[in-house]
This record gives sequence, C-alpha cells and structure tokens, in this order.
Amino acid sequence: MDPSGLDRLDQRIAGCRACPRLVEWREEVARTKRAAFADWTYWGRPVPGFGPPDARLLIIGLAPAAHGGNRTGRMFTGDRSGDVLYRALYDVGLASRPTSVHAGDGLELYGVRVTSPVHCAPPANRPTPEERDACRPWLVRELNLLRPTVRAALVLGAFGWQAALPAFAEAGWTVPRPRPAFAHGAHVTLDAPDGPGLHLFGCFHVSQRNTFTGRLTPEMLREVLRTAAGAAGLPPPK
Ligand code: SF4
Repeated sequence: MDPSGLDRLDQRIAGCRACPRLVEWREEVARTKRAAFADWTYWGRPVPGFGPPDARLLIIGLAPAAHGGNRTGRMFTGDRSGDVLYRALYDVGLASRPTSVHAGDGLELYGVRVTSPVHCAPPANRPTPEERDACRPWLVRELNLLRPTVRAALVLGAFGWQAALPAFAEAGWTVPRPRPAFAHGAHVTLDAPDGPGLHLFGCFHVSQRNTFTGRLTPEMLREVLRTAAGAAGLPPPK
C-alpha cells in the first residue's frame, strides 16, 4: 500500500472537529487534566490508528480514554487498558516492548495496527449513536488503505463489534445477515467479491472492569491474539 496515504489519513483524522460534544469534552479534559498528569501537555485531539501501514492484523477498540489516548495521542497508550493490551502483544511477539507510555517511547508493533471506530474520547466512555456513525467514514478509509495486506481483525468488546461491522461492509467485505453476534472467541469469515477475505475475531474488551474481575485474563487475551495472528498469516507468535 501507499504508506503516505495512511499518514495523510492520520493527519486528517487528527484535525477532525465533526462532533461538537466530543470536541468540547476532549479539549476540556486536556485543559483541566488529572492531577497525576498536571505536567503533561495533553493531546486533546482525535487519536489516529497506530501501527505499520502494511499491517496484516487490525485490532479495533472502542474509543480513546480521556486521560489515556486523549493525553498521549496514541491508541491505548497511558491507561490500564493499554497496559494490558500492549503487555499481551509483547508476550506473543507482536510488539517490541511490553509498555506503551507515550508517543515517543519507541514502541513498534509487528504486523499489527490498533485503531477504533470512534477517534475522540467520549464522556463516560460512551459515544452517542450519532457520534459513532459520524466517525465511521474514517474507519472505512483506513480499512480501504489497509486492504492490500490486512487479513484479520480482532474487535475488543461488543460496542466496537457493532460499530465495526457496518464499516467492514462499506469497505467491501460481505457481512452475513443477520449480523454475527459478538462473543469472546467469536470467529467469522468475511468474504470479499474482489479480493481476499477477512477473519474477524471477537474478544472481551481490555477494560479494567473485565481485567480486574478476571472476565478477561492475560492468557485469554494472549490466546485470541495468537489465533488472530495465525489467521492473519503473521509469523507464529510465541
Ligand atoms: S469522533 Fe470521529 S468524527 Fe467525531 S470529531 Fe472525533 S474524529 Fe471527528
């Protein structure tokens, strides 16, 4: 693919102001900050996807966290959810280091890109249906740019699943009707009339609610990552 195409897309996403409520919230959070991060200059803008332009596996979350991605400018970076996700990616050999602390920390992902259907941090982590729909075209464009290489997608949580299915359909993959239900470990193959299909996997979200309660354990996450990476044709994970 054309790497500069994805770079350009990321720049355009970072400048988006289409959702008034989310623009106000992300900027308000960036001004007021959390006491623990008082010396940070928050990003306070939409957070683009993170990872190489020729990724074979796409991980799709929900939306950036107010003091995580909205602070650091990188997906899943600077919060507990990200700690769990990047640790697992490192453990299975898909990341160069076990932590993701800030956008300049040198972390590299191997064949994996992380994105979300909503690029701005929403109040209470809950975008409205209108905000979700407004942001979908960004994910469709990202899918179109990744199409030459992407072979599997791992969606974290039911909201991301619901938001991502229409984006896959708009990007040209065939989504079965009725739409497949989300479940941890769900695996659906989306065909494409004019190219390779896509293996779609579901995984419980890496939220604290799931990881603190043991609903999603590190081994469960590693296992689904290994399966998705294998389906994507990535070198055998650890
Ligand atoms: S949520 Fe998406 S569409 Fe809405 S302002 Fe942010 S980047 Fe733009």
